[in-house]
Amino acid sequence: MNNPKIWLSSPHMGGNEQKYVQEAFDTNWVAPLGPNVNGLEKDLEEYLGSESHVGALSSGTAAIHLGLILLGVKAGDEVICQSMTFSASANPILYLGATPVFVDSEEETWNICPIQLENAIIDRLAKGKKPKAIVAVHLYGVPYKVEAIKAISDKYDIPVLEDSAEALGSSYKGQKCGTFGDVGVLSFNGNKIITTSGGGAIVAPTKEIKDKAVFFATQSRDDAPHYQHSEIGYNYRMSNICAGIGRGQMQVLDKHVQLRRNMHEFYVDLFKDIDAVTVFKVPNDDYFANYWLTAITIKPDETKGIDAEKLRIALDKDNIESRPLWKPMHLQPIFEKYPYYGNNVAEDLFKKGLCVPSGSNLEEIDRNRIKKAVNCFFKR
Ligand SMILES: *Cc1c(COP(=O)(O)O)cnc(C)c1O
Repeated sequence: MNNPKIWLSSPHMGGNEQKYVQEAFDTNWVAPLGPNVNGLEKDLEEYLGSESHVGALSSGTAAIHLGLILLGVKAGDEVICQSMTFSASANPILYLGATPVFVDSEEETWNICPIQLENAIIDRLAKGKKPKAIVAVHLYGVPYKVEAIKAISDKYDIPVLEDSAEALGSSYKGQKCGTFGDVGVLSFNGNKIITTSGGGAIVAPTKEIKDKAVFFATQSRDDAPHYQHSEIGYNYRMSNICAGIGRGQMQVLDKHVQLRRNMHEFYVDLFKDIDAVTVFKVPNDDYFANYWLTAITIKPDETKGIDAEKLRIALDKDNIESRPLWKPMHLQPIFEKYPYYGNNVAEDLFKKGLCVPSGSNLEEIDRNRIKKAVNCFFKR
């Protein structure tokens, strides 16, 4: 293959990352704590606003695990979870010995459907068990229906774990994603909008909750000169080296959000005359999406030989990576035995959807290749 690979979403360094990493070496802070960790937490708190308290962790998955613990989830509990998401939203429910209860998406934001959510809660209550928490996700950086979900959370007094792993830089009515839940979660994995190579964070509404998360993340060490433990601990703190990368990335976050949004605009323009394709976008101006990944849906047409999978294969032949949407959790072998409430909206989206290259580091030459491959596939 002569053409270099165009990735769906790859790391994009801003320039100052190595300076912070070098500082960590120069001062010998090569440890899962240090000035970069504190600095990154402060940068994130300033960025998110809303009096958020941020604890930097080793991954977004670790943040979800600790978030569920902080919300009181224990073995035998039930936790409601958006079905259409990455498995990391749901796996920590099983780590805790709790049972996931999956809920379908609505069509506007592709996130947890308020109607199905309330149905699920009413039915679980009728079966004698009150769900302990709701895991809601801002898929592809598009905020979920924040007010409707909050209203249900308040009505039934069930806290929300806000999985904002894909939505750093997104906002709803001017408030940043990550700050809506009873706890919020961010990810800095290699493919996310900014990266620390691997990492994540918990966003808490109070300093006590953040401190508790950091306590759990550092082996739950009691205040004593020796190693003393009264609670189960985890080794989930972020390394000071990784946090150095994160500090450099924070300086370019807004620029990268703009570049991802430009990629989304590019696809809106590219597909505007192709009737079979709809580019996924926010329902109205209350929603601001970072468009971490641009997603499209394709109306299959057998006579013309088009569907999402055929487009994926055609792009792949040109060394252009694209990927089906997240396969809903209730359809996954590991999760299919758990309860599900829905109308197959997520299932239908999974069948006809595709994520297209969305990185902030894609250039004109990449866009031209994508354009050519798409136009060739649709025979234009
Ligand atoms: C990436 C992601 C996570 C997990 O984050 P990691 O840092 O990779 O552990 C969780 N939820 C969603 C929706 C994600 O996309």
